[in-house]
Amino acid sequence: MKLTTREKSALFMEGVVTVILLLMLNLALLVLIVQAIESNPGLRDGIFIIKRSVVLGPNHFQLWSWENLFIGLMLVADTWVVWWRLIRRYRQMQLWHIIDELHYIASGHFDHRIPFRVSGDVQRVVDSVNALVDSVINSMNEERAIEKSKDELITNVSHDIRTPLTSIIGYLGLIEDKQYHSEDDLLKYTHTAFLKSKQMKSLVDDLFEYTKVRQTDTPLSLTNINLAAMLEQLGASFELEAQKKGMTIGAENSSETMMMEADPEKLVRVFNNLVANALKYGDGGKHINLVANQISSTELEVRVTNDGPKIPKESLNMIFERFYRVEESRSKETGGTGLGLAIAQSIVALHGGYIYVESDDALTSFVIHLPVKHDQPLAIPQRLKTPGTVS
Ligand code: ADP
Repeated sequence: MKLTTREKSALFMEGVVTVILLLMLNLALLVLIVQAIESNPGLRDGIFIIKRSVVLGPNHFQLWSWENLFIGLMLVADTWVVWWRLIRRYRQMQLWHIIDELHYIASGHFDHRIPFRVSGDVQRVVDSVNALVDSVINSMNEERAIEKSKDELITNVSHDIRTPLTSIIGYLGLIEDKQYHSEDDLLKYTHTAFLKSKQMKSLVDDLFEYTKVRQTDTPLSLTNINLAAMLEQLGASFELEAQKKGMTIGAENSSETMMMEADPEKLVRVFNNLVANALKYGDGGKHINLVANQISSTELEVRVTNDGPKIPKESLNMIFERFYRVEESRSKETGGTGLGLAIAQSIVALHGGYIYVESDDALTSFVIHLPVKHDQPLAIPQRLKTPGTVS
């Protein structure tokens, strides 16, 4: 800590005043002692005897006279008193500096760290204040990130709602103004308005679901389920849709029973999203596979695989971000909201698991790892701790 010039002069003055006071005190003591010795012959004789007995060497060299001893003792005592007063004053000044800094922080500069070091225990106070400031800075940054993410959410939602809404208003406007030539036109306009309304509804539904599962404290209705049976049922329910697209769908499980603790409704939502995506984006592919494996007594793995077009490498990191859609799928009429994978990721995380994607020219696989017991969440492998590829 650096002292100001004013503080330095105050410290100097404190030293000077102390020295003057001490000199006066020493003088007064000296006078009192001389008087006491001269008016008391017994004391004088006693001192004489002591003086004679403390001699050195064969020449009877006397080491001290009582005046020397007194001056020596006084010098030591005086130096100690001056040092003690200066140190006390210096610490007081350090404390004032710290109080000034605290006032500065309290006046709204919550990201201000105390920039100097002080000596002794007071440094622990400075360290604690700085640690507090650091955690406030962290919370403020997190708060800002949340705020920013909320703003982005509102922007995305407004944009994604405005687009179909503009169409709906446009087509209903044509009908309202009777700007149609035939009943076919009328039906075409109402049909488009109906489709766009459905698109809006699915966005609002997804958004509602997304905000619900985003909360880490979202309650799960946990029951013991057989994951293998669930995947088989799911595969069967998509068979017809797959056939229409010229695809087959199958479930391959390493065992017929794979028991785990889960919220079946939410978990089905995850697999539904993945299979629906495989159907939507797997153009040109022939097979969709649901494969479950027991990795260990505590961990299960499900792979939802399709042999459609590869997801571009640069998109793999972002695919689980809300509203993210691979550029090619935006231009297609797949009608997605960009929330399906974000919802899936949140649900898997609520179950204590993680999800990632792998994609090459041959296969695209969404891989989900789930704990058998909900209260024993899985540790996310280090290699997957890159943003977006994992929950
Ligand atoms: P949505 O399907 O509503 O657009 P998702 O979050 O489910 O949103 O998916 C995000 C994007 O990931 C999709 O727009 C698509 O581009 C890509 N995607 C998801 N699954 C697949 C898949 N199986 N094959 C290829 N691309 C996929």
